[in-house]
Amino acid sequence: MQEKELLLNYINNLLALKKPQNIRYKMKSFKNKFFIILTSVLLISFFSFGQEHHKKEHKVHWGYTGEYKPDNWSKLKPDYELCGNGTSQSPIDLVNPISSSLTSINSNYKPSLLNIINNGHTIQVNYSNGSYAMIDGQKYTLLQFHFHTPSEHTVNGKHFDMEMHMVHKDKDGNLAVVGILIKIGKENPNFSNIVKHISAHKSDAMDFDEIVDVNSILPGNKSFYHYYGSLTTPNCAEGVNWSVLTTHIEISKTQFDQFHNVMGNNNRPIQPLNKRFLLISE
Ligand SMILES: [Zn+2]
Repeated sequence: MQEKELLLNYINNLLALKKPQNIRYKMKSFKNKFFIILTSVLLISFFSFGQEHHKKEHKVHWGYTGEYKPDNWSKLKPDYELCGNGTSQSPIDLVNPISSSLTSINSNYKPSLLNIINNGHTIQVNYSNGSYAMIDGQKYTLLQFHFHTPSEHTVNGKHFDMEMHMVHKDKDGNLAVVGILIKIGKENPNFSNIVKHISAHKSDAMDFDEIVDVNSILPGNKSFYHYYGSLTTPNCAEGVNWSVLTTHIEISKTQFDQFHNVMGNNNRPIQPLNKRFLLISE
């Protein structure tokens, strides 16, 4: 719409230009106007087509129930085929990890202004620029964190009530996700301003004049499980560097309900480990 309006303004301005009134000029001016109108029609059609095309791109639904459930993701769109035939998929059951002297995750997270979105699949908090973590010696910028109820990863086959995913990207576009398992227990003050601004319906991202700080959300003990997996949502792209902290955090039942009432069950079932190693930091 914006593009169309700008275009129409531009055309009106061109047509409104005052010209000298001799006949030769009028003819030329008529040709010019005709040319401008023709170009405009073509441009508007082009933009409209672009927008329609764009809308169609976003019409492919996926979800967690019915015909859009995880078992069917790979059939919904050719781009989603890894959800069906990928061999390094997430989440997995965190069981029998191999002890390893992994480099610890060194984070340099700063507080961020709260920007929150209900994107129809999860509640997501977009993080301001400038926060990063060193994972495997590589610098990954924190982009956003979001939630799943119940947890996606299981530990010895058991789900936690909830899981938080902190999504990071390095300069080459590689993704690293840090997972934090969450149990219903004590009220967690670090979630109060997030919970307060959860939109009950799918909405655009909204800014609030409040601060969110992942440092205060993370547990003190940063031991972690480590493996290579995938996005747990379509397109299920692989090569994701996964770290799931071994220490869980807590939120109250009321806080949990505020997420769960809006998101429902949004966990992808666990995927086979196949020929991968699950490590645990010593
Ligand atoms: Zn996630």
